[in-house]
Amino acid sequence: MPSDCLFCRIIAGELPAAQVYSDDSVVAIRDIAPQAPTHILLLSRKHIASVGQVGEEDSDLIARICTVGAELAKREGIAQDGYRLVVNVGRNGGQTVDHMHVHLLGGRPMAWPPG
Ligand code: AMP
Ligand code: ZN
Repeated sequence: MPSDCLFCRIIAGELPAAQVYSDDSVVAIRDIAPQAPTHILLLSRKHIASVGQVGEEDSDLIARICTVGAELAKREGIAQDGYRLVVNVGRNGGQTVDHMHVHLLGGRPMAWPPG
């Protein structure tokens, strides 16, 4: 685990976070600066810097993140109205934390195209 990675440190319990879900491959926390009534971050326990570094061996992990996202959307009561799963990749993609994560956003209508 990179000792300077914010999300690795949250996953290790070294830094506080509002955790809403945890299993052996995925940890979910509430975003510290929510952009919607529900804004959860789905973190892989494994440190992967971005989607650009995902390999074939991570396919189960990616599937797990999607199923956890769908389950948490139900739990949050936003599944019926719809929600958005977002992955920012690299600087132009808006990625600010270099540990792969998926945003679960919902509770309001989302605009398209994104900014
Ligand atoms: P991204 O810009 O896609 O890399 O997403 C990083 C997200 O992490 C942003 O939405 C931040 O608000 C969020 N964030 C940064 N620091 C923390 C923290 N300590 N706890 C929870 N969320 C955080
Ligand atoms: Zn990390």
